[in-house]
Amino acid sequence: MLTYSEVCNDTNDSEWLSFIEEVYPWIDTTLFRLKLEAHESASWRGHTLEWQDNSGYRATGTCTKCGKQVVCLTRPAPNQIDIGGEAVGLNCREEN
Ligand SMILES: [Zn+2]
Repeated sequence: MLTYSEVCNDTNDSEWLSFIEEVYPWIDTTLFRLKLEAHESASWRGHTLEWQDNSGYRATGTCTKCGKQVVCLTRPAPNQIDIGGEAVGLNCREEN
């Protein structure tokens, strides 16, 4: 069964994501929706994220300018949140 990442690696394109959801409704796009949301709020704070750890239920983005991170979890534990990390809470200071 195809996953979204096998169809498309561009996690920043919400139009493409909507297209995938329509054409391949069996693909679980939960993680990609979270990444898209995290990417948008981190970009708004000035960060430039690079994504790692795409294990299907978890993705980590690291800012190439300041090193702050964002973590997306499709199945967060009761004490966790689905989108967390300094990159969505703090502005980029272009350190390092
Ligand atoms: Zn940054």
